[in-house]
Amino acid sequence: MDEILLNQKQVDALIQHSEKAGISESCAMLLGTHNDQQWNVKEVFLTRNAHEDSKTSFIIHPEELLQGYQLAEKKRLELVGIFHSHPDSAASPSNFDKKFMKVNGDVPWIIFSGINMDLRAFILEKDMEGEKEIKIKVMERHFFQ
Ligand SMILES: [Zn+2]
Repeated sequence: MDEILLNQKQVDALIQHSEKAGISESCAMLLGTHNDQQWNVKEVFLTRNAHEDSKTSFIIHPEELLQGYQLAEKKRLELVGIFHSHPDSAASPSNFDKKFMKVNGDVPWIIFSGINMDLRAFILEKDMEGEKEIKIKVMERHFFQ
């Protein structure tokens, strides 16, 4: 079964980032490693939402997108996830999100809901028709030490 691994510190950073953004959607790049079934987040790169209509949509600021990819290259990591928040709706992909999942290919999307604090992950199906939910595994810090 597909799953994405994060640690509690990374989850806390994402939730804080969302809360700071208030009524706007927040976004971040998740960098790490992956194999066929597991996406392992090593680094969270917080980004600005550059979308005009930031309450219901997001675009990672282009300069920061570039910086994120440069950081990945420097650390020999890959993009293993795209995070964004829904301040005012459930943690499932909007129609806009679904369209962009198709464009942005095969990395998990993690969505945080400001209304019920849900954190859920989705990935595009192999046939590109629709998306499926994958498991988020939150590791305690001591597993990494
Ligand atoms: Zn969304």
